[in-house]
Amino acid sequence: MSKGTTAVTLIPGDGIGPEVAESARRIVDATGVKIDWEVHEAGAEVFKKGLATGVPQDTIASIERTRCALKGPLETPVGFGEKSANVTLRKLFETYANVRPVRETPGVPTPYSGRGLDLVVVRENVEDLYAGIEHMQTPDVAQTLKLISRKGCEKVIRLAFALAEAEGRTNVACATKANIMKMTEGTMKRTFEEIAPEHPDIDAWHVIVDNCAHQLVKKPEQFEMIVTTNMNGDILSDLTSALVGGLGFAPSANLGTDVAIFEAVHGSAPKYAGKDVINPTAMILSAVLMLRHIGELEAASSVENAVMATLASGVRTRDVIGDDGSVGTTAYTEAVIGNLGKSVPEWTAREVKRLAMPVPREETAFVIPESVELVGVDVFFQTEEPPATVGEAAQRIAEGTALELKMVECRGTQVWPKTSARLDPTDVMRARFITRGSVITSEDILELLGRFGGRFNWVHVEKLRMFDGEPSFSRAQGEI
Ligand code: NAP
Repeated sequence: MSKGTTAVTLIPGDGIGPEVAESARRIVDATGVKIDWEVHEAGAEVFKKGLATGVPQDTIASIERTRCALKGPLETPVGFGEKSANVTLRKLFETYANVRPVRETPGVPTPYSGRGLDLVVVRENVEDLYAGIEHMQTPDVAQTLKLISRKGCEKVIRLAFALAEAEGRTNVACATKANIMKMTEGTMKRTFEEIAPEHPDIDAWHVIVDNCAHQLVKKPEQFEMIVTTNMNGDILSDLTSALVGGLGFAPSANLGTDVAIFEAVHGSAPKYAGKDVINPTAMILSAVLMLRHIGELEAASSVENAVMATLASGVRTRDVIGDDGSVGTTAYTEAVIGNLGKSVPEWTAREVKRLAMPVPREETAFVIPESVELVGVDVFFQTEEPPATVGEAAQRIAEGTALELKMVECRGTQVWPKTSARLDPTDVMRARFITRGSVITSEDILELLGRFGGRFNWVHVEKLRMFDGEPSFSRAQGEI
């Protein structure tokens, strides 16, 4: 049943964006659902006007009001300075989860046709390497911070389980690289393993992300839902879209506690802009997710069925069948509108309940240790001196202070005391100083840094602490 008029922010976007946005909008309007579209800009044109975020204030204000947006792809300038407008939107509205469903589609032949693929990738959407905190430690060595919080993991994992239950899915895999990055990726794995027992009807399991990619190509039907960190999810979800016919068929929802932004997974494909040739299905299916989100379940199923009826009838764009016999974006859109109300035996709509967004805990930190102990400091510094000289000098610097040199490493491998590893050093090393046994304070570290700075050019430092007796830092390769 229709719920009256709903305000939705529409961002046509860049490149092919305006064409796919117009297609989705025409089809939604044709269902009879009353949407008050608030059309606003973001992306390339906004960057050109000199706004480095790519998202103007009136667009932000509209989403604040509507709490729901349908967005075309936004071009990310490749350069320094400008941030991705997509990432800006995700962060501004704390849309912490990105949901990317794919399902075998009638009329779209792939090497996997007939295997009934139907799975969702749920990707953490605001943390990880995409926090975009980057520094050049020296002109030669670049650094990105990979930030993963217990809070961020818990939110996306709870959402994944809630979504699985709303969609009647009984199998949820968590894909991480916890075997190497035990603290960052490990937080996602451990959080998943702690929350999974709250959902005894769901078969919850962990898979290492590289094997997940391998399994997705080899036997994708073993997956119903994959929850994962931001970059893993970005890559895996492009892979899963290819299993069902490519980016032209992959919709997504960016979900936060009170704002949702729906968009195709694909980008602005500039070479096809304005040519009326691209496939608008991903954007139309994103609008289907949007209709479900605003409670228009019937209209959502009607559009989904019409898309499947269109494809099953052989009306397809050139990404599916090439130039011969394919239709353009506008003709495809009109065919979908003409098929509203139809369904085909090849497609049975999944019974879906409206997703109730989990209400996250309000605390800033989800983990509070009972004891915290400062035990040392890692000092990253620029040098072209050989490791033996560096080690001896750093040892002498620490003499008479509360700390002693434990090791020096380069790119994660200990170089002092010398290990058997071969080494091709860069010009950034890290000296690890630890307490000589007494309780140390920040002042002790500042004294050491003052001395160290007199001899070496340090570029950044990390405190070494114990939380409830557990080290908050990893060891270097070769460190004992
Ligand atoms: P892209 O725009 O997704 O295009 C890559 C290729 O995918 C296209 O050349 C085309 O393949 C195919 N494709 C994508 N969408 C299609 C559609 N609707 N119908 C048919 N084929 C489609 O990726 P990109 O070239 O890497 O990125 C271009 C720009 O988009 C960049 O500025 C990037 O930052 C941005 N981007 C934005 C978003 C977003 O807004 N969420 C997401 C990704 C990228 P063929 O060449 O084989 O025909």
